[in-house]
Amino acid sequence: RMRTLGDVARYHAEARPDAVALVFEGRETSFADFDRHTNQVANALIAAGLKVGDRVAYVGKNSDHYFELLIGAAKAGVVTTPIGWRLAAPEIAYIVGDSEAKLVFVGPELIGHVEAVAAELTHRPVVIAMEAEGAGEHRTFEAWRDAQPDTDPMTPIKTSDIAIQLYTSGTTGRPKGAMLTHDNMLAMRREAALRPLDWNQWGPDDVSLVAMPVAHIGGTGWGLVGLFNGAKGVVAREFDPTKVLDFIEKDRVSKMFMVPAALQIVVRLPRAREVDYSRLSHILYGAAPIPLDLLRECMEVFGCGFVQQYGMTETTGTVVYLPPEDHDPAGNTRMRAAGLPMPGVEIKVIDEAGNSVPAGTVGEVAIRSLANMAGYWKLDEATKKTIDADGWLRTGDAGYLDEDGYLFIHDRVKDMIISGGENIYPAEVESAVYGHPHVAEVAVIGVPDDKWGEAVKAVVAPKPGVTPDAADIIAFARSRIAGFKAPKSVDFVPALPRNASGKILRRELRAPYWEGRE
Ligand code: ATP
Ligand code: MG
Repeated sequence: RMRTLGDVARYHAEARPDAVALVFEGRETSFADFDRHTNQVANALIAAGLKVGDRVAYVGKNSDHYFELLIGAAKAGVVTTPIGWRLAAPEIAYIVGDSEAKLVFVGPELIGHVEAVAAELTHRPVVIAMEAEGAGEHRTFEAWRDAQPDTDPMTPIKTSDIAIQLYTSGTTGRPKGAMLTHDNMLAMRREAALRPLDWNQWGPDDVSLVAMPVAHIGGTGWGLVGLFNGAKGVVAREFDPTKVLDFIEKDRVSKMFMVPAALQIVVRLPRAREVDYSRLSHILYGAAPIPLDLLRECMEVFGCGFVQQYGMTETTGTVVYLPPEDHDPAGNTRMRAAGLPMPGVEIKVIDEAGNSVPAGTVGEVAIRSLANMAGYWKLDEATKKTIDADGWLRTGDAGYLDEDGYLFIHDRVKDMIISGGENIYPAEVESAVYGHPHVAEVAVIGVPDDKWGEAVKAVVAPKPGVTPDAADIIAFARSRIAGFKAPKSVDFVPALPRNASGKILRRELRAPYWEGRE
């Protein structure tokens, strides 16, 4: 019965009008109000002259009103582009300009930034302030919304119309605008209906924590999963580790999605071992490789079900999952897997020529699913290179399938290190180094080497108060993985550069070593 993104509000407003859809800093919105508010947003966009296919941008931290904007815009056929608030002004300007957003909705922290951006752009977008704070002469979201009737505009929308233009994380280069359709967004529901998965069952008491940034699929996509399932969504303005524990205790969170870098910070809080996790049924994690030692630590501390998720912006998030039953702390090899295809998702692993390789052989992972994006906005060449005529999407990730169909991800094809003719994948080496007692964070890169072509280097952020020894770390790694994969050298840094989706920016780490050579 849900065809388009707008139906998520309509459906639950009818089924459970008084149930809480969203909670944000004490403000509770029922599904009935969510439906009315999203109608008002749709009417306001129509009144502003926006047509089906036009875009608006959102530059701000997480907020319940972001989800009202997203679903409201969808009801008018307008495409929302959320933009990461941690980006620098020129990066925000690039995306606002590239998306041609007619309106830009801005959080209080970023008004100054965006005013400067808007003044530079030729298409002069209108700025609307998400909150009264710092709004100046701009209209606020609530005033703009509430000036409109709350009747459904019933704009005719095709399921193949674009609902969201979500930019990729920009880990490997400039972010690309992935155009995600209503069909793409609803695919997760259709797939869930094909074959119900235990960990993906939701009841009326489920509470979901939305703590990852909405500018990424792990924030927006996860927020939508909760809304689709009629759960109460607790929206965290930004990721704050101690607040995550508060939400679990006070808001009785039952499901949450977090990237490994965020889980690591939460699990290391001393209070993490004192909290009652009896209401927490599942932690979903993904978006970057998780070190096995960290996963084991989380399983011990949180004691709930764990589900790994693998996917990308271009596949509307999760296409592969590792269910709780494959999380065996004794460390079976399955726990190193990204997992199995979601119902309805096809996976193959291909060589450079595009041919499937046998089980156990590493190649590039390709995905075919209802959730594959329509294409990259204004990047036809890139779209053609990414999705072939048969609908297979090349992920750029290296990996292999085992005999039982489990996918193992080995990092990006581009990040592979070739040393002395051997292919080495950073994530495997990182997992080996990570277990060293002095290591807080580690990234592994290839650096130029006259003898080996590339040599494996570990860049380590030590735990507070310790001075690790490079030789000791190398010896530790050699005891856990083959000698040729172990780092040849170790550099120490205070912290690793990461983007807002928790991914290590290896290109930044590599740059100084490769200067003038690549
Ligand atoms: P860009 O495409 O702009 O370089 P990005 O690929 O980091 O950025 P996203 O779409 O947010 O942007 O991330 C998708 C990528 O995240 C995948 O291609 C994969 O490399 C990584 N990833 C996602 N889930 C997992 C996982 N469970 N394990 C390992 N890596 C993962
Ligand atoms: Mg990518």
